[in-house]
Amino acid sequence: MKVKGKIKIDQEYCKSCGFCIVHCPKQVIVLARIYNLAGYYPAEVANDDCTGCGVCGLVCPEACIEVYLEQP
Ligand code: SF4
Ligand code: SF4
Repeated sequence: MKVKGKIKIDQEYCKSCGFCIVHCPKQVIVLARIYNLAGYYPAEVANDDCTGCGVCGLVCPEACIEVYLEQP
């Protein structure tokens, strides 16, 4: 059974720190080119390589990433 992950980022709470980007082992996350209401360029998902490891959710100081596991 192939297990894949998926994340959901609450972009309005993102402060552009980049911790999730540097810690993701699959380079799933990038910064968006459009800023949020607070004036930060928020993190966004760039591809579907997420494994659901959960690291991004653990390192985010704003707790704005939720990690899900998919079991197709
Ligand atoms: S759960 Fe893991 S693989 Fe998926 S985006 Fe977060 S750090 Fe990357
Ligand atoms: S770790 Fe959190 S606050 Fe920092 S860039 Fe990623 S989503 Fe935004």
